[in-house]
Amino acid sequence: MSTTRKEAVRRYPKLGQLIAGEMKYDGGRSTMEVIDPTTGTPLGLVSMATEADAAEALAAASRGFDIWRRTSAFERSALLRRVAVRMREKAQELAELLVLELGKPWNEALGEVDVAAGMWEWAAEEGRRAYGRVIPSRENHARQLVLIEPVGPVAAFVTWNGPLVTPSRKMSGALGAGCSIVLRASEEVPACAFALGQIVYECGLPAGVLSVLSGDPVMLSTRLLESPVTRAVTFTGSTNVGKLLSQQAVAHMKRPIMELGGHAPVLAFESIDVPLFARRAVAAKFANSGQVCFAPTRFYVQRSIYADVVEAMTAEAKEIVVGCGFDPNTQMGPLKSERRLRAVEQMVDDARQFGLRVTTGGAVLDRAGFFYQPTIVADVTTHAKLSNVEPFGPIAAVTPFDTYEGAIALANRLPYGLSAFVHARDFETLHRATNDLEAGNVICNGWRVTYPETPFGGHKESGMFCEGGIEGLRAFQNVKYASFS
Ligand code: NAD
Repeated sequence: MSTTRKEAVRRYPKLGQLIAGEMKYDGGRSTMEVIDPTTGTPLGLVSMATEADAAEALAAASRGFDIWRRTSAFERSALLRRVAVRMREKAQELAELLVLELGKPWNEALGEVDVAAGMWEWAAEEGRRAYGRVIPSRENHARQLVLIEPVGPVAAFVTWNGPLVTPSRKMSGALGAGCSIVLRASEEVPACAFALGQIVYECGLPAGVLSVLSGDPVMLSTRLLESPVTRAVTFTGSTNVGKLLSQQAVAHMKRPIMELGGHAPVLAFESIDVPLFARRAVAAKFANSGQVCFAPTRFYVQRSIYADVVEAMTAEAKEIVVGCGFDPNTQMGPLKSERRLRAVEQMVDDARQFGLRVTTGGAVLDRAGFFYQPTIVADVTTHAKLSNVEPFGPIAAVTPFDTYEGAIALANRLPYGLSAFVHARDFETLHRATNDLEAGNVICNGWRVTYPETPFGGHKESGMFCEGGIEGLRAFQNVKYASFS
């Protein structure tokens, strides 16, 4: 690591509105503080877009779409590749913003830069393969074609837990498919999205194809969705806000691409290697302080190994070093905000009221910032809040099961259907559970849920359409049928 926290705080950028390639700093816009989760003190100010900014970004997106859709897929691909290269060149700078805004440990932050750059590489490749097809005609000499086209200007909204990967998914997907995009940055971690937008322009994006705004979510979503310019809306965040935005989108007949909340079950069968399982489960659970939509959260463990798994996971969680992301020993940083800290605290208090066993953690750390201990709650019943509400924090809930059918019923009982994990040695159990689990991603004997080239999306109330993979690009494309007689 080449930097100290103090130096990094001094370098935190001045933020404006990035409209049509130009960073606009003045104009008397109101501002809001961006809070450093490591200390609870302000890092800088994010400016609030005005109605005029929204109108300007929409006009730019309309002009930008006209340019970008006529740019060849090969030129678009070359630009997206340059973005990935530039991101890797600026990895230290971007990682610094991630540690400052989200409190991530340094190596996790570098990992996020790498994953985000990989998304641009994937979209660069796959964007060149918008293949249509030829359908054999009923008439001689006729030709029937299926063409794939960009859907149009996209309105994008992101949350705070993946400050670089989430804007990268949306920007690279939309731009790779030939769309223009107006992205509303998260007010809690805005600098990463703006830095990314500036990199895209440094790499030669024509003015107007991308704008990044920050500001009042209701005003911006209303303006961007009611405008005839935008043709699709992509949102990453909670199911509640996703439902609101979907209704707004559908009222204006725009495609709602929704990446929403989860509460991922893990089924652990008695054939597993318990120490290995516990080590990797704890690493997956507490990455990003548990603030990951696909993080494993509800652990259902076969009764014959239940006590051993609880003990092993507890021992592993106790070893996690919690602290400032710039400290090389840190394995887990703070939660993003006071709001998230209180939500996690209440969830554990509620578990205690139900008489559940907190085997490690279970308290706010006595220091500045929003730190909570890595926490394991055992013997969790379906009545507890923790069983029903996504924790989105460093809490693992562990529950025993007796039969395969009982475990599947527990896993599927919530309206969420984002990710699910199955750990067992026999293929039959894995295969059966893959069919029976109601989730957009089922991960067997592993923990990595998403790569740039694999589709990621939720079933049930966890979302609509996918990001990543071929499917992620398709979400930003329209199908057109053309015939020649
Ligand atoms: P949230 O939905 O409350 O907020 C997300 C963002 O939406 C914020 O920036 C907020 O300002 C904005 N917002 C609020 N109202 C809006 C509106 N009317 N129009 C437009 N934007 C609006 O979510 P949160 O609690 O901050 O984030 C955590 C949630 O995000 C969790 O549920 C998590 O699972 C989910 N998430 C899902 C994915 C995925 O890919 N499925 C990825 C990351 C996070």
